[in-house]
Amino acid sequence: MEYLINRLKEKSLKVTPQRVAIAQTIQKSGHVDIDEIYSIIVKSFPTISLATLYKNINSFLEKNFIVEVPVPNHKTKYELVQDSHAHFICTRCGSIKDISLDENRLLSSVHKDKGLGKFERYSFSLYGNCCSE
Ligand SMILES: [Zn+2]
Ligand SMILES: [Zn+2]
Repeated sequence: MEYLINRLKEKSLKVTPQRVAIAQTIQKSGHVDIDEIYSIIVKSFPTISLATLYKNINSFLEKNFIVEVPVPNHKTKYELVQDSHAHFICTRCGSIKDISLDENRLLSSVHKDKGLGKFERYSFSLYGNCCSE
C-alpha cells in the first residue's frame, strides 16, 4: 500500500482513500475493467458513483499512473504502468496474460533504423483463444 501511495505522489496525484483503494484494486487484479473495479470499490465506498470512478480513472490515465489495454469485443481494461511487457489477449473471454519479450532483440531492430529515435517502451498484444471449444 505504501508503494502505491508513493507512486500516486510521484505522479502528482492527490492521495485520497478512494484513490488508494482504486489503485489497490487495479494492482491486485492485474488487468481489470471499469465495471469490475466498481463492483469491488463500492463495497468499501458505498456512496461512490460510476461517474466519480471514471473521473479518477481519467486522472490516473492523464498522469500515466495506469494504461489502457484495449480488448476486442470487451470493455477496455486498465493496468498499472510497469515495465514493458506484451499481452496475450483471448478474444473470446477477454482474459489477459502478461508475456515478457526479448527486449534486446526488439532493440536491435530499432537500432537498424537510425531515424526512429530513442527506444522507451513497447506495447504489444497477441490475440488468440484460451478457452476450450
Ligand atoms: Zn499487463
Ligand atoms: Zn479465453
